[in-house]
Amino acid sequence: MINTDLSTQAREKMISTYRHLHQNPELSMQEYKTQEFIEKGLDDIGLEHFRCGGTGVVAIDKNGEGPTVAFRADTDGLPIEEQTGVEYASTSTGELDGATVPVMHGCGHDSHVTAALTAARLIHGQRDAWSGTIVWIFQPAEETAEGSRAMVADGLWDKAPKPEIVLGQHVFPFESGTLHYTLNAAMAAADALKITLYGEQAHGSQPQDSIDPIVLGAHIVTRLQTIVGREVAPLDSAVVTVGTFNSGLKENIIPDRAELKLNIRTLTPDVREHVLASITRIVNAEAEASGAPKPDIEEIYTFPQLKNHPEEGAKVAAALRAELGEDKVIETPPLMGSEDFGHLADSIDVPSMFWFFGGAAADDANPAKNHSPRFLPVEDPTLETGVRAAIAAIGAYVAR
Ligand code: ZN
Ligand code: ZN
Repeated sequence: MINTDLSTQAREKMISTYRHLHQNPELSMQEYKTQEFIEKGLDDIGLEHFRCGGTGVVAIDKNGEGPTVAFRADTDGLPIEEQTGVEYASTSTGELDGATVPVMHGCGHDSHVTAALTAARLIHGQRDAWSGTIVWIFQPAEETAEGSRAMVADGLWDKAPKPEIVLGQHVFPFESGTLHYTLNAAMAAADALKITLYGEQAHGSQPQDSIDPIVLGAHIVTRLQTIVGREVAPLDSAVVTVGTFNSGLKENIIPDRAELKLNIRTLTPDVREHVLASITRIVNAEAEASGAPKPDIEEIYTFPQLKNHPEEGAKVAAALRAELGEDKVIETPPLMGSEDFGHLADSIDVPSMFWFFGGAAADDANPAKNHSPRFLPVEDPTLETGVRAAIAAIGAYVAR
């Protein structure tokens, strides 16, 4: 067994690590100071490491023969102005599309890095308690779905030993001290599309001279709702959201174009293919019905689906229960949120398991959610729970 008890000193180090990270968030693919901080932390533990995927870091802890397990923590912050009011609140800024924006650890990735570094320290100090190899992956740019692809493209699995399983966790506003997981399809695939509709500009009083892209777009928005309502089977899941619809500058000009941005969430590859094909079909058919030129449909990003391996995931869940108690580890339905974690394991066709650790105070009936300017997990016992979960899950493979 690997001991998960935190000494007073280890606890203080954990808190100071967390507060430092919280106060110094960086945007996706700009995690330069975070990368250096992680490297210093790994040096301090005595682990070898290398950079991967730009601002990513990988550390390898080899301790004799045995299984190889990878554990991933994501490192990026978000363009949000923090409103938590804590003394270690962020006042950092970053560059986004040429503008300077406030940055916050609004998704709790600071707690992920803290839990991984703390767990790495505790495990590294117990050489007799385990045998095998641990690959610690500090992944940038989860929020933009770039980071896991960047690391794999940069040769992550050529430079690090191939693991039997890739593990990861995310803080979420469940009750602090609890863990939540789903076997099989755990989080949705997400696709974002930009659709540009073309029309014919005319004076607002002369509609006969126009092809109105606003009327066209309105039909598309309405008709897209029939994909989930009429095409996807009732027991399958999908979301089609039109998040932006921009067109026109003045009330008496019929504009020559409109732009829609869509967010699509699905839980199976079949449903995903169907929904994406239906969107293309409807957009093109509605344009044709309007006598408009063919629209442009561009992908903005795509997040892979997150699947937890049924057997290996159950084995990890059992280890988490043994560590934290039966009632603290809860199986839950899939989330329609998305994560790029899955690509790390999918790219080498090995199992993965990803769970959530609670960050909300027990008496908080309405905790702020991830991506809110007031999102702030309670430190205790959230951080310690993340550390214990990481060690227990890794220990399920390498503990003696
Ligand atoms: Zn997020
Ligand atoms: Zn996140």
